Amino acid sequence: MKQLYRSYDESTKIFKKFQENYPNNFKMESIGKTWEKRDINLITISKDIKSADSKPALFYTGTIHAREWVGHELGIEFATYILENLENDPTLQAYLEKTTIYMVPCANPDGYEYSKNHFSFWRKNRRVNVDGSYGVDLNRNFPIGYVKSTATTSNVYGGPEPFSEPETRALRDFVECHENITIALDYHSQGNVFFPAHDFRHEDTIDTTDMNTLCANMAEEIRKISGREYGIHQGKPPTKLISGSGREFYHSLGIISSVVEVGTRNISDYMDDMNENLREHIPALLAAVKEVPNYSKNNSVSRVNSFEITEIGSHHVNLKWDYEINKDVFFEIYRSRQDKNFCNNSNLIVRTSNLEFSDINLTSNKDYYYNIRVVNKKTFEKSPFYPQIKLRTDCDYDEFSRTYYANSKNTGYVAENLNDNSKHFGVNSLFVGIDENKGISYAIVTVDVKSLGEGALIKDASFNLYPINRVSTTIEKYGEWNTGIVNQETMGDITNYDDVENMEILQYVGRPTQSHQLTQGIWRAWNFSGMECKVLQEVADKYEKIVFRIEGPTELIIGRTKQMMQWDIGYGKFGYGLTYRPRLELTYTIKPTITELYPKAVYTVSKESVISDEITAGYDEQGRKIYSTFEFNLSSLPPYNSTMITKAYFELNSTKIYIKDDIRFHLEFVDENIEQNYEDITNREIIQNVGYDVSATELKNNQTQHFPFDSFSEITLNEKLKAKADISFVLKPTSSKKANKSKSVSWEVKNRSLSPKLIIEHIPKRRFPLEKVKNVKLTQENGKIKISWDNPDDSDFVGVKVIKNAYREPYSTHDGQKLYSGVDDYTFDDFGAKDINKYYAVFAYDEVPNYSEPVIIEYKGK
Ligand SMILES: [Zn+2]
Repeated sequence: MKQLYRSYDESTKIFKKFQENYPNNFKMESIGKTWEKRDINLITISKDIKSADSKPALFYTGTIHAREWVGHELGIEFATYILENLENDPTLQAYLEKTTIYMVPCANPDGYEYSKNHFSFWRKNRRVNVDGSYGVDLNRNFPIGYVKSTATTSNVYGGPEPFSEPETRALRDFVECHENITIALDYHSQGNVFFPAHDFRHEDTIDTTDMNTLCANMAEEIRKISGREYGIHQGKPPTKLISGSGREFYHSLGIISSVVEVGTRNISDYMDDMNENLREHIPALLAAVKEVPNYSKNNSVSRVNSFEITEIGSHHVNLKWDYEINKDVFFEIYRSRQDKNFCNNSNLIVRTSNLEFSDINLTSNKDYYYNIRVVNKKTFEKSPFYPQIKLRTDCDYDEFSRTYYANSKNTGYVAENLNDNSKHFGVNSLFVGIDENKGISYAIVTVDVKSLGEGALIKDASFNLYPINRVSTTIEKYGEWNTGIVNQETMGDITNYDDVENMEILQYVGRPTQSHQLTQGIWRAWNFSGMECKVLQEVADKYEKIVFRIEGPTELIIGRTKQMMQWDIGYGKFGYGLTYRPRLELTYTIKPTITELYPKAVYTVSKESVISDEITAGYDEQGRKIYSTFEFNLSSLPPYNSTMITKAYFELNSTKIYIKDDIRFHLEFVDENIEQNYEDITNREIIQNVGYDVSATELKNNQTQHFPFDSFSEITLNEKLKAKADISFVLKPTSSKKANKSKSVSWEVKNRSLSPKLIIEHIPKRRFPLEKVKNVKLTQENGKIKISWDNPDDSDFVGVKVIKNAYREPYSTHDGQKLYSGVDDYTFDDFGAKDINKYYAVFAYDEVPNYSEPVIIEYKGK
């Protein structure tokens, strides 16, 4: 079906026709000639072609690599779509009111024709090199990071010098004299991934968030059409930086710039796949068109001056930012649960004119991402984004958190037809799926969870893998990737294919990842359900390690050679580094200790008398209330600093004398300074009601009544523990009847098992973080920036975490790039650019972990 792809001549004809039919909206021009004397077509689409160059513009390029036909084809389809719909589509009209579209659908016409007619795998242009070989990789012929080489037959030969080729010179000349270009998208195949400009360095730039968000908004449009997920990968450490690409050249001119890798093969089957790819990329392109004016140099709204976290709790976050106050603007805050997510109406959480925002009702121990932009109320222009905030909410009062990484020695993959499977452990990548030559491949990931300790109760878990590459997953919408917990009794040798294939899976985890969800640059998570957490718990308790098997499709479609996914192991020469190891994230609590407290004193307080050691509540003969009071002392509980009360309830047992009337009883947590007299009791200060009230009828059915504490009462109880204070409760009758006389219920006191009790569940947990580290220093060693410090001298010290951020002082242990976590007292910033200012933050932590305040040190770029 490849013949459905149009030739270069055909697109030229189509564009000529468009020019005739839509003279006000469409123009084609030649911006240069190729080695084989073909015109390099540039088309302009505008609401008014005469004023096109005065509006901010999108610059589209495609098929700079000859065999990547999608760029040319999508260019034709996109132009067709706009021209055919412009008249009837108000959204399109509004976009084109503000934006011009320039497209070079095929930046390598000679190569494209050669690929179409002679050798479909051809990538370069058709220059005749000095040695008689053919071709320069045009996308290595731009100057940023250009690599000089004499390997002319290489597929990535970059030419004798930057801009040695007429095709790249044509692009350069056009872009350099069109300063209205704000976004450049270069279309390639394959991978279902966006590669935003990396600025030829391993650190985020001020516009990294802008580029990631642009790509994510485009990706979301694609997902809406087909369910297909696109990755976003800026090519950060330690992957190879792409030298001499057009993307980096455009970015060097201040243009928001990305490569778009479409589909799963260089040349997809048109009817089956390309069709859908074209369809889904049209709304994606329109999402980019929508953003074009916001990146214009004439945009009146600039990004905020700062964007910071001021407080993090287990369920809330406070943010602030700085901007010159101006009544014409407001701020938009977007919140996401995953990195590199879109910013659209579905995750816009507030529009505000304030310079701060408090986000509440968050989930504890979870990652959150915040983005901010400024909007002009009158023109609706939007500013660029400030660099994204990343954070993790604190653990809840009863929670602990652990991140366990794969144990390298016992993590690897086995392939059916290879006999050196043991060599795949501890290095490089996990290959999972099927390949004509290798056969079926499974990955094994082993995680040691010994430090979890006895009594840990797993509440929540996720297993995470970092996708390196999906290039070998070449079949569209075919197969799924599952993760299962292995029964270690049946495991055998994890480096032996047959043993791995036959091992029993106790439980698959979460939902499978479908082939069209595979991509790169964005972590893939398998989230455990409550039931799956139970299995995880049992295995952790029994073996102190978890073994996962990851499996993909086990059969191929006829004529196709592979459907194989590559996940990172983090270790080894080709791994992306320790940050990218497979990991298991756990939130857990500890089996509580239950302490029953008996009252120090109980009284029945009526108008007439105060009687000790008796509990009666109700109404006296005059209809006045009779109260009972209880006093407890908390000093038998363990110390406040290392104890958390996780649950509390009050137990009361009624005697077996019941009344029929509509009387209810409720229990109040009251200020402990209450005096035992009628006056004081009736004017008591109530802290909170405990549990729900019980009716006289309920007492008949249930002699024992439990009054559970709500969260506020639990917090108060925790505070009282700090002071080792006495605490008091009042049992009070209520009724909807006007007159109740001589109606009361008595409750057991003397019989110990039926006596009133305060039942408190508590766990050992440090409440406060450790001391900060001391003497944080920056030095340089072996050409790298070295950060060193003194660890706190504390037996609860577990480690330090070092975070780097170029745009703000990291307040959260997640707000930036993690450089180190462990017990050492130094680390290196392996990929740190020495010419850029940045902050390093060092946090000390205990086993909860509670993180100390960071010690922040600023690096001044030279
Ligand atoms: Zn390419």
